[in-house]
Amino acid sequence: MKFLVCVKQVVDTSQMEVDPATGRLKRNNANSILNPMDRNALEAALSLRDQTGGRVTVISMGPPQAAAVLKEAISMGADEAYLVTDRAFGGADTLATSYTLASAIRKIGSFDLIFCGMESIDSNTAQIGPEIAATLGISDVSAAIGLSYEKEGYVQVERQFGDDLEVLDMKLPGVVTCTGELNKPRYPSIKGILKKDEVEIHNLTAADLPVDAGRIGMKGSPTQVRQVRPVVPPKKENLRIEGKPAAEAVEELFGAMRKLNLV
Ligand SMILES: Cc1cc2nc3c(=O)[nH]c(=O)nc-3n(C[C@H](O)[C@H](O)[C@H](O)COP(=O)(O)OP(=O)(O)OC[C@H]3O[C@@H](n4cnc5c(N)ncnc54)[C@H](O)[C@@H]3O)c2cc1C
Repeated sequence: MKFLVCVKQVVDTSQMEVDPATGRLKRNNANSILNPMDRNALEAALSLRDQTGGRVTVISMGPPQAAAVLKEAISMGADEAYLVTDRAFGGADTLATSYTLASAIRKIGSFDLIFCGMESIDSNTAQIGPEIAATLGISDVSAAIGLSYEKEGYVQVERQFGDDLEVLDMKLPGVVTCTGELNKPRYPSIKGILKKDEVEIHNLTAADLPVDAGRIGMKGSPTQVRQVRPVVPPKKENLRIEGKPAAEAVEELFGAMRKLNLV
């Protein structure tokens, strides 16, 4: 089977800084890591490849330094890697990002199963996987906590829904987004670490893709970041009821709770 895994280079949330002028995250090599749930996505693809045979391709959209996460994926066992990179893609919101990734996926070839992390840690909209599926017109199951391949043409996906466990048969081709509970990602192997410097990362620019220029980057992004500001925790207020008969004090307490919609 042919597997594709979308991996994102994210800002380590412990070192996150926003540029106050632009409202954008300050990104650099030192504070960037492979998005944690993308390790689970990659592990899912590698395990299925171990079971069924085939190839695992990884793809990332980002600046040239995002090649680092593709190399890390190669060291974990991926077979080939594509970096979708061009200044024209800069400033993309989720719609433009998923459109660009879907166009790149179409260009690379057809895949039985596409894996994404459920969400990134630096933007965490959880929209990219379902949007890629919608753009490609294929099936999609989000937030997988279990996955198996038993019946040809389908994967069985488990997801938690409140206190219930949903077990779904998803027709292939499709997209599955993966949670951190899905599996335990493997460590890079010595062979993989040696391979990562030999494998060529294929770059795809806007000129290489069948994209409509009005649907990529800032131009193709209907959402705009208007402002980013620190969250100010709500001020806590204490209510003291003193020197009143119990019935009156209880009534006043209930009145205050009613105002806060607590009862
Ligand atoms: C108006 C606006 C402007 C923005 N401008 C910029 C900007 O200038 N520069 C910038 O870096 N970001 C920018 N962003 C953020 C960017 O849109 C998101 O990082 C991107 O759309 C992915 O969203 P997410 O991280 O919430 O994805 P989620 O849906 O939370 O991610 C889920 C999964 O999708 C996959 N995925 C997500 N992104 C990628 C990717 N790039 N490549 C491969 N797989 C991926 C991964 O598997 C990931 O685990 C902007 C956002 C908005 C709204």
